[in-house]
Amino acid sequence: MRMKEKAISKLAIMGGTFDPIHIGHLVTAEEVRHEFNIDEVLFVPTGHPPHKSNMNMTTSEHRYLMTVLATAANAHFKVSRLEIDREGVTYTIDTVKELKKIYGKQVTIYFITGADAIHKILTWKESEELLQICEFVAVTRPGYNKQELLGQIEELNRNYQSSIHFLEVPALAISSSNIRERIHNMRPIKYLVPEEVENYIKKYNLYEYKICLTAKEREQMCNYVASKMSPKRYAHTRGVIEMALEFGNIYKISCDEVFIAALFHDVAKELPQDEKHAVCAKYAIELDTFEARHIHLAHGKIGAAILEHEWGIHKPSILDSVRYHTVGREGMCDLEKIIYLADMTEEGRSPYKGKEQIKHLALYDLNRAMYKALYSSYSYVTNILKQEIHPVTHKLLEYYKQYDL
Ligand code: NAP
Repeated sequence: MRMKEKAISKLAIMGGTFDPIHIGHLVTAEEVRHEFNIDEVLFVPTGHPPHKSNMNMTTSEHRYLMTVLATAANAHFKVSRLEIDREGVTYTIDTVKELKKIYGKQVTIYFITGADAIHKILTWKESEELLQICEFVAVTRPGYNKQELLGQIEELNRNYQSSIHFLEVPALAISSSNIRERIHNMRPIKYLVPEEVENYIKKYNLYEYKICLTAKEREQMCNYVASKMSPKRYAHTRGVIEMALEFGNIYKISCDEVFIAALFHDVAKELPQDEKHAVCAKYAIELDTFEARHIHLAHGKIGAAILEHEWGIHKPSILDSVRYHTVGREGMCDLEKIIYLADMTEEGRSPYKGKEQIKHLALYDLNRAMYKALYSSYSYVTNILKQEIHPVTHKLLEYYKQYDL
């Protein structure tokens, strides 16, 4: 038998974009619940808010699911799809009226929202009626100009016989935009959002940093790289860019990211020895024993450090593509393979046995192309140059053997 649900007399609506939801929202909801003796807090992620029609928000479904994950452990918290399922622009007045129908006329509704919304409340659809049919809780972050807000609340309550309350929530020092910015800058968000939300963001790559270069930035980067190498090496670099862009297009990798990785892959190759050592010392680059003996093999790591510290590029896939293009590494991502393969197959590189086959394979199977490319490097270094091969390259060759179909 289903237990009879306790009638709800006080319902709080926690309206917001929740892009993403964070612990500031959860603490706020819990604080309001306690302060106003609320039976249930209903989180209502916005659908298409009237004031944000052109903005680039994360899809409603992602925002809704993150809200569900974040609130699942609290028996007093629920999440509603009311606004995200509603066609067209969503207005709070429609939501409140619909919830009154669902929960019954006896329910007192408290609408929790950021203080900024209160300043603009009179511009909302049917705002006068809204102020009559529900109470508001305006929450502020630390540092907010409380006096001005309190004055406005008093005026609204006097003129519209409304019940707007005020609550300061220290945990709201966190904001969704701050979380998004931290992700852009590769900073941790652990403990700022529930662990389930953090994992969800990672799983779907939400808020990931997307690099967009202007024509001027491209030109500045090209001039810098050209100044660090001979015209012959720069011509090779241009060839790698062209080849990598062709591969990148097939594997749907951002052109700007392919461009940066290809442009900088050899930026440190022709630096004088002492300069190479100086950059290693400056950025505390760790060299393995093999690289320490053959410093020219460290030019990938040195180039990556230059790209990160002097050009402010922090995206791991780009840095790893520069860092490991010389000897490769286990677990290479598509961009790393693309740079490795473009380096081996660009038009200007003198023809060698297998070059055309590697290029051809790279157009539809990066792993098969990697096996052929590693095999070719291995044979060239050991048989022609008669040099020692890096143990990682040796191990990789063994790994990629499974793709030799
Ligand atoms: P928002 O863009 O998500 O938030 C704006 C600011 O207020 C942000 O700093 C946000 O912090 C904070 N905030 C928003 N909701 C909050 C909450 N419940 N608790 C604590 N802080 C909150 O949202 P918005 O545009 O202000 O909309 C808030 C609610 O008002 C939504 O339910 C929306 O539908 C409603 N609204 C209705 C109308 C209308 O009916 N005409 C017009 C505007 C807004 P974070 O970024 O950290 O979340």
